[in-house]
Amino acid sequence: MRILLVEDDEMIGESLQKALKSHAVNWVKDTFAAEHTLNLEKYDLILLDLGLPKRSGLDYLVQLREKGVVTPVLIITARDSIEDRVKGLDCGADDYLLKPFAVEELEARIRVLARRRQDRTNPIISCGDASLDPATYTLSFRGRTKRLSVKAFSIMQILLENPGVIYSRSQLEEKIYGWNEEVESNAVEVHIHTIRRKFETDIIINVRGVGYTFPKVRVSS
Ligand code: CA
Repeated sequence: MRILLVEDDEMIGESLQKALKSHAVNWVKDTFAAEHTLNLEKYDLILLDLGLPKRSGLDYLVQLREKGVVTPVLIITARDSIEDRVKGLDCGADDYLLKPFAVEELEARIRVLARRRQDRTNPIISCGDASLDPATYTLSFRGRTKRLSVKAFSIMQILLENPGVIYSRSQLEEKIYGWNEEVESNAVEVHIHTIRRKFETDIIINVRGVGYTFPKVRVSS
């Protein structure tokens, strides 16, 4: 992978460059240098620190996405408030890693992003007013587009690919969790609730006592 590392700390920059030697890492120390480099070359991933001189990583990220640059961005930072993390993801980051971190974890996350990038060729799944984009993990419904968690995305995928079919909670659970994964008893409900809240509507219909469905035809109430 070709990686653009944006990091002003000498020690971290040097150690990351050494640690990620299985990749091609180009290291710049501020976002203006990053901008310049990105104009000249293509990268598969940007590793972005937030606390940077001249302009913050977050401001740069916002600008990148506004320009339509889709290169995956993994934020690496010591800022650890939930607010900061949510802000980073909302601004268009693909993942977030807190300093200090183990290089093994960074490598694993880079692999995930690489896989996701390959999935970009996946077709968009759509049905009625809804469409799911596997490249960005987003759901669009009636003019709104929201990013979903991986599990919520999987639920929507099952429902959209089989419109009108009613799935019980346990059927959905079985499909979206691995064999050895611990599942909280109301996990599916929580995901569905979250999706509905994001769109402020019953995008998924609850058939009382039976399960959940994405209807083929919506009857307005
Ligand atoms: Ca910094």
